[in-house]
Amino acid sequence: MTGRLARILLPLPLDSSYTYRLPDALADRAEVGMRATVPLRGRTLIGIVTGLDAEPPRREAKDVTSLPDAGPSVSPSLLELVEWMARYYGAPLGLALRAVLPGALWGSDSGAAHRDERILTLEADRPTLLEREQLFRRRPRQRELYEAIEALGGAAEVSHLRTRLGFSDALLRSLEANGYARVSRSPVFRDPFADLPPTPLPGKLSPAQRSALVALADVPVGGTALLYGVTGSGKTLVYLEAVRQVVDAGGSAIVLVPEIGLTPQTVSRFRGAFGDQVAVLHSGLSDGERADAWHLLQSGQRRVAVGARSAVFAPVPGLGLIVVDEEHEATYKNGEAPRYHARDVAAMRARLEGARLILGTATPSLETFARTEGNDATLTLLRLPDRIESRPMPPVELVDLRTAAVVKELLPVQWTTLLDDAIRQVLERGEQAMLLLNRRGFANFLQCSQCGTVRQCPNCSIALTVHHAPSGLRCHYCDHAEPVPPACGECGGAVQQMRGVGTQQLEQAVAMRFPEARLARMDLDTTSTKWSHQRILGAVERGEVDILLGTQMIAKGLDFPNVTLVGVVDADTGLFLPDFRAAERTFQLLAQVGGRAGRGPRGGRVLVQTRAPKHPALRHAAHHDTDGFLRLELANRAAPAYPPYVALVNAVFSGQDELAVSAAAARFAEWSGKLFEKHALPLEVLGPAPCPVARVRERWRWHVLVRGPGRSIGRYVRAAARVASRHREPRLMLDRDPVTLL
Ligand code: ADP
Ligand code: ZN
Repeated sequence: MTGRLARILLPLPLDSSYTYRLPDALADRAEVGMRATVPLRGRTLIGIVTGLDAEPPRREAKDVTSLPDAGPSVSPSLLELVEWMARYYGAPLGLALRAVLPGALWGSDSGAAHRDERILTLEADRPTLLEREQLFRRRPRQRELYEAIEALGGAAEVSHLRTRLGFSDALLRSLEANGYARVSRSPVFRDPFADLPPTPLPGKLSPAQRSALVALADVPVGGTALLYGVTGSGKTLVYLEAVRQVVDAGGSAIVLVPEIGLTPQTVSRFRGAFGDQVAVLHSGLSDGERADAWHLLQSGQRRVAVGARSAVFAPVPGLGLIVVDEEHEATYKNGEAPRYHARDVAAMRARLEGARLILGTATPSLETFARTEGNDATLTLLRLPDRIESRPMPPVELVDLRTAAVVKELLPVQWTTLLDDAIRQVLERGEQAMLLLNRRGFANFLQCSQCGTVRQCPNCSIALTVHHAPSGLRCHYCDHAEPVPPACGECGGAVQQMRGVGTQQLEQAVAMRFPEARLARMDLDTTSTKWSHQRILGAVERGEVDILLGTQMIAKGLDFPNVTLVGVVDADTGLFLPDFRAAERTFQLLAQVGGRAGRGPRGGRVLVQTRAPKHPALRHAAHHDTDGFLRLELANRAAPAYPPYVALVNAVFSGQDELAVSAAAARFAEWSGKLFEKHALPLEVLGPAPCPVARVRERWRWHVLVRGPGRSIGRYVRAAARVASRHREPRLMLDRDPVTLL
């Protein structure tokens, strides 16, 4: 009598499950999909039962230690989804499994949230910039600290200021002693979603919204609808009504939004519609809170899951609908194995579970748009061509930086008098403006004016960015930080010039130009603490901010009716990157940020500063001509062939020894070519070549790009995954359907 055997898959880089023995006490309760604790090489791990009564293993199987839950944690259809992800993306099965459950369920609870954090809050009475020159004259570090806290929304965790930003304890104490700030333990950082007042819904659907809902009813089970509606066309209400129909029929729904779009405003709208049926899954939750939300969804106590990428795996029973808002967003792509795209996983999950999928966007990805152009029976196109209440799209003016008059005092910030006047008018009328500059930090890089050397990161092949508050040079790839050197490291030249304006410098310039305006900056640096992003947006919504400036973060899904001006300070930052999606991304960014203007009855306008006003991405954005841009870009992708005409896999080799990395990439390219020949696969190898960023975190990077029809790519990925699993050093990482090649 061997007892019952169970196949257990562990959340590790493994391709198959292991066999364990079920002791009699557990044998009767065991079910596929259950969590099981098992011993592995002296450790105790949590895995998932993937099969029962397996063939007896050759060696004596170890015992399952326990089955901690009453029922399965992973449903049969989620298990199928896991297998699909592993196969499709060429990822180890165990890692695909790990992705579908929150960390706490794998026993990796990193502890509860720091509810009792000490928080340093600035006094409400803030000195003006002029006063600061006086107050902080002999205390520049205090001013830096002061302004760092200010940028984070006026309050920050003491631990964050110390460990992440490197301010000393003594400095923190002196800021308090001087009366500029106060330390508290009060729960300033409560979950801003916890008790948001629900937003009442607009009473009546517009005719366009109604027809979209009617057409949605005809989408076959397992099918996809593209809700293609201009910014401000009321897509959210369509989602809400579609979700309501599912919930009323006793089912559940998942709504995916980009992390940055998970704002109090969005959450309030869902609370307004569904009250406490909603579970919000966001990055600010502690592991424990995330596990709580997971259980509430699994047990059916919450029927609507709203969250970012990983919410696509929410364990809802009776899934009837998945909504993917802003389907074109690159953040839906996971950055580690399995490198899944949540939109594509959502489509597969909808098919497996008999749900419908709605993709919503004002600027469809080319992949999705191409499906509307062909006759793809699995996609239904629903359009919302106009803004709600027939509000006009804001006029977009391209301002040619090569010829326009600029305000000289603000140089090197390219501040045209057109933009200057427009801001002044907005301030005079008591309205709000947004300024986009898609580059964070103070300056892009530091260059010696004698020998021209640009200060590089010691670990990466990328220039260091100049930062203020806290000041220093920082690498945006590996976070390496160093003080600004007093002289050039090459020639000793004393004069070092800052090149390329970033958001911090823009903020300083705008503050000098409009000292009376209340500014807020939103970029990765000001949103690094818990809830800072929501706090900044909350202040804008309450009218406490006149000018919100920031990176692409400010472009996403915000609905502030008092914003009547959007200024794009430099539209060209992403235009000439060595990536075939550069034009598409620039167009999307301009259309999205332009969509923030004029959402209220007062209307609005958009000013776009550029040196490339003839570029199609800019021209079409200026005319709100999304279809025109997409058709043109689609034609550009035909030859040389890029997605959506072909599928891509990017195979990236990395390691510390540059020669070994390039040699491994060359061998792999050769192996790939032979494989195509042997199996007559219509695929093409590009490379090997160094990656555009050739070194990151001390590791050299080379890549091999393979393109061709999706089906053949699928076969290739499975073969390449076996090669990847044998590679230790240099490492091989496969990225199918990459969203970036940088
Ligand atoms: P989108 O997501 O398409 O950019 P939103 O869903 O944010 O647009 O809607 C834009 C604005 O129009 C919101 O303030 C919303 O409350 C409002 N709105 C949406 N539908 C209606 C409607 N049927 N009647 C009145 N106002 C509406
Ligand atoms: Zn670096």
